[in-house]
This record gives sequence, C-alpha cells and structure tokens, in this order.
Amino acid sequence: MTLLDVTDLTVTYPGGAAAVRGVDLRLDAGQKLGVAGESGCGKSTLALALLRLLPAGTKVTGRILLDGEDVLTMRWGRLRAVRWAGASIVFQGAMHSLNPVHRIGDQIAEPILLHRGETAAGARRRTGELLEHVGLPAARASAYPHELSGGQRQRVMIAMALACDPRLIVADEPTTALDVMIQAQILRLIEQLVAEQDVGLMMISHDLSVLADLCDRLAVMYAGRVVEEGPAREVHENARHPYAAALSAAFPRIGDSASRFAPRGLPGDPPDPAAVPSGCAFHPRCPVSVDGCDTVAIGLREAAPGHRAACVHVPEEPGAATPASGDTKDARSTP
Ligand code: ADP
Ligand code: MG
Repeated sequence: MTLLDVTDLTVTYPGGAAAVRGVDLRLDAGQKLGVAGESGCGKSTLALALLRLLPAGTKVTGRILLDGEDVLTMRWGRLRAVRWAGASIVFQGAMHSLNPVHRIGDQIAEPILLHRGETAAGARRRTGELLEHVGLPAARASAYPHELSGGQRQRVMIAMALACDPRLIVADEPTTALDVMIQAQILRLIEQLVAEQDVGLMMISHDLSVLADLCDRLAVMYAGRVVEEGPAREVHENARHPYAAALSAAFPRIGDSASRFAPRGLPGDPPDPAAVPSGCAFHPRCPVSVDGCDTVAIGLREAAPGHRAACVHVPEEPGAATPASGDTKDARSTP
C-alpha cells in the first residue's frame, strides 16, 4: 500500500525562486527510497515540505498524501499529531536539533508524553527502551547533548524519531557530518530498524553509493526536479541520465565525503533556483548534450520497466509525454 504519494510538488521560497519543481514520488510501506543529488538540488526542501516545516511565506503546490491523508490541506492539530506518529525527520546536524540545556532522556520523553498520553513512569521506561534500541545504555538518558559524541547524538535523534512509532522516517543526510566508521554503524542501525518495524524510509544523501547500498529505489534530483528514478542498484550501475551517471561515477565508494561538493568528473555547480537554465537544466554541464537540450525540457521517459529518466538520449516510446508538456512545466515554475 502506498505510504507516501507526492504529485507535482512545487515549492517556491519567499522571493520567488522555485527550489522544487514538479516532483512526483511514491513510497510503499516498508520500502526504502533514496533521494540523491548535489548540495542545492532541493532535497531538504522536499523533505521539509512533506511535513510542512518550510518557512512562513513559502508557496507549496501539488499534492502530498501520507497514508492517504492530504498533508497540505490538513488542519493544524492533525498536522502536529502526524509530525510525530505519521512521519518524523532525522536531520543532519543533531547538535542543532537537540536542546543543549535539557537532558536527552527528557527530550526523547517529551513527544511520548504529549502524543501518546503516557504517564511519566511509562515515558521513562519507553525512553530507556528506545535508547537501548539505538545502541545506547538506558542510563545515558541523564546525559546532556554535549556529553555525547556526534555518533551518539545521531543515535539519540533516531531514538526521538522512533518515539511515537512513525509510519515514515525521513532521514536528511543523517550521517554526512560523521566519520566513515560511525557513518557505517548508523546506516546499519537505520537499516535494521526499518526492517524490524516495517516503516517507510526516505533517505536523502548526496552519496549515491550509500543510497544504492541501503535503498530499494532511488530518485536523483537536479535543480529541483527528479531527473531519474528506478531500482536503486540499477540507477547506480546503469544510470540513464548523464547527471545521475556523473553522480554515480563520483561516488564509487561509500562515504567518500571529500567529493561532496565537487564530485569528480563533474565540473561546475547546480544552478541557483533563481537562474535555472532553459531546456534541460543540466545542459550547461552535460558532456553529451545535443542541439535542442538548451530549449526543450524532456519529461521522465521509461528507460526500462520501472526505471525512468528525463533525457533526450532515452528513446521516446509511443504515447510518452511530449517535449511540449515539459516546456509547459518550466513556464509554470519560472517566477
Ligand atoms: P539540498 O538539500 O539538495 O542541498 P536545499 O533544498 O537545501 O537543497 O536547497 C535548494 C535551494 O533552495 C538552494 O538553492 C537553496 O539556496 C535554496 N533555499 C533553501 N532554503 C531556502 C530559504 N529558506 N529561502 C530561500 N531559498 C532557500
Ligand atoms: Mg540538504
């Protein structure tokens, strides 16, 4: 059953630049979806939009269904409940998400008290269980965030995310700030928890090899669009969009954080949302661009069963979206 169903999602920050432009995504219960792309491609904006956590004044259009419920039209009280029990987010910077002046046990217990109606003793017990579940002794509940290492803090963030048994966990670069050994441990932990609890996982990373290893499916974002989407290994090993291919080549090894901001073999940067190139947004960096790539935006085309890529080099099948419809989308999202 479909846990998360995102249709034509467009997010425009105050000031008029669209950081997410017409994204479609689906995630089934128990499935792991990876979202890849360089810094600035709109991954975090997408994650924040799922729980309406974007700054005031940000315009969001399209549709987000979580377990069949429309997140964008949901009333405030319902949204608050959904933010814990429906879906929760693990962010990259655990230090910024934890309150430095409160013991971590109290911070984990808070949503349990608020949203599960537990007694204080019940919440304490559950907090201890959650800490042990993420590989920390229950006694660490009395520690303050600064008394923990980066990896331990990220474990606490994961315990918090699990506190109310969410149906979906969104993990936005949860290991990027950690060293490679700790990163591998945290990834194994997330993998194990997802398998045990049958939750859906959306894992965001710039590192395609991490995602290919962990996830069932992979979506690659560029300039606010999904440019390729398919089975994780297939996208990593046989990418059909030149951007996905470049990312894939840039991350042959898991956890190569050095290539984060300048993937090898891919000069330049993703565009600023205020100045997205016409046609295929990737064309100025593309090694195989041809005449027309600078004017015509190609929509996602079926490259193989369940595997789609938005590139002119993917043969167009009969009845597929015409280039003209891609143009229309561009026109709509241009401020
Ligand atoms: P990613 O997570 O892939 O690195 P982000 O979603 O953080 O990408 O950012 C996408 C684009 O949106 C970037 O160009 C970024 O500068 C811009 N952006 C992010 N947050 C804001 C904001 N609050 N206001 C305006 N622009 C923003
Ligand atoms: Mg981000």
